[in-house]
Amino acid sequence: MKKTTTINPATEEEIKSYERISSKEAKGKVAKANETYQTWKKTSFEERSKLMNKLATIFEENVEEYAQLATQEMGKIIKQSRAEIEKCAKICRYYAVNIEELIADEVIKTEAQKSYVTFQPLGVTLAVMPWNFPFYQVIRFAAPAVMTGNTGVLKHASNVQGCAFALEDAFKKAGFPDGVFTNLNLESKDIKAVIEDKNIVAVTLTGSEPAGRSVAKIAGENLKKTVLELGGSDAYIILEDADLEKATDLATYGRLQNNGQTCIAAKRFIVLEEIYDDFLKLFTKKMKDAKMGEPTNEEVYYGPMARVDLRDELHEQVEKTVKQGGKLVLGGKIPDRKGAYYPATILADLKAGMTGFDEELFGPVASVIKAKTEEEAIELANNSTFGLGSGVITGDSKRGEKVALQLEAGNSFVNKLVASDPRLPFGGIKNSGYGRELSSYGIREFVNTKSIWID
Ligand code: NDP
Repeated sequence: MKKTTTINPATEEEIKSYERISSKEAKGKVAKANETYQTWKKTSFEERSKLMNKLATIFEENVEEYAQLATQEMGKIIKQSRAEIEKCAKICRYYAVNIEELIADEVIKTEAQKSYVTFQPLGVTLAVMPWNFPFYQVIRFAAPAVMTGNTGVLKHASNVQGCAFALEDAFKKAGFPDGVFTNLNLESKDIKAVIEDKNIVAVTLTGSEPAGRSVAKIAGENLKKTVLELGGSDAYIILEDADLEKATDLATYGRLQNNGQTCIAAKRFIVLEEIYDDFLKLFTKKMKDAKMGEPTNEEVYYGPMARVDLRDELHEQVEKTVKQGGKLVLGGKIPDRKGAYYPATILADLKAGMTGFDEELFGPVASVIKAKTEEEAIELANNSTFGLGSGVITGDSKRGEKVALQLEAGNSFVNKLVASDPRLPFGGIKNSGYGRELSSYGIREFVNTKSIWID
């Protein structure tokens, strides 16, 4: 029997091994999820809300246990792990309270006696999820899916299987019927058989571009809908009227939060030339002062990356960028210690065509780019194959809004780092994927939008 072994990225020590299931066993679990769906879809919103509120309480009561698990498996600093679990509780309550309004019937005036649009559940959805927010990414999919009357199966990243089983257990403890939410500890090569299974109606994936392309291809061949959230290389434009203290605080937090591994993190900082040198000086000081260390230490600002191989890939990207003419201002060396650590790093004077400009840097490395004018800054921001988040930092919010409207991205925030909020849709364009999560837009991705006409 094959096993998945989780490894603590701070120590490189093994944590635990979990037995993998075969694609045949996975199909059995999918059949169970479909059987449960036949009764679950008929339950009332009240009944589902009661259980969803119970799930929220479970998160609230076990913040420390779940947070320690996330930190141990993927290296997030403990304060941020606690915040992630608290966010899971909030999102469960949000859907428990708002579900009826979010998918209420829409009456449409026609010549019929009565005509309206109704939103009905579809069946079993497969979620392929990443390790960077091991609890939140899953709940962001599962809470709305389950509240609409769908059931879900999870293929979580191999390095966070403890979190995956903890989530399955939390649904059970909350009282959800067996089969409403199921973890499939599968190898990613076995996902194909699950997508092809007749009981799977749709797939949602958050992760890398290659994983997204592979899943979307199989789903497309089987005529199954997909929602893809594939990361990005988010540009933040710092206009010359920006408050430099605020801009550099946002830049430092944005780049080091979650040890630099957030899809919507600020990655490319495009700075107007009037303030370029001052920005770079202050940003370098703040990045240098940010303390790296053991993720369980309450005092550190950032910890290790999630896996040694991911750290090594990031380092290669940094080295390539420097060879291509990028200026290494800070960091850029693998520290002499155990663990997947990488120091806060700044690459400056970057241009299109350099790795640090073109590719996603999924770790604590900032790319700084100079722009002569606001127009050039917008052009540089849009010169990317990605289009997930983006931002503008300025002293003039009206001007910021004008710039934000011209950025090619699913989310553009002015004077604030992009963050997901259940009230607003979340997702990208270009190679960052398609479809939306959260809000009424997200919830309608996996329902049957059905027209009813009574003549
Ligand atoms: P992956 O995209 O490989 O992993 C995400 C999920 O997809 C995991 O559950 C993984 O399973 C699964 N997966 C991987 N390959 C396939 C495939 N061919 N078909 C189906 N499922 C697959 O991310 P990595 O962990 O390798 O990270 C690599 C890069 O991806 C990062 O450096 C970053 O650029 C990007 N990324 C983006 C994220 C985001 O939030 N948008 C999150 C995580 C990564 P398994 O773990 O078993 O391989």
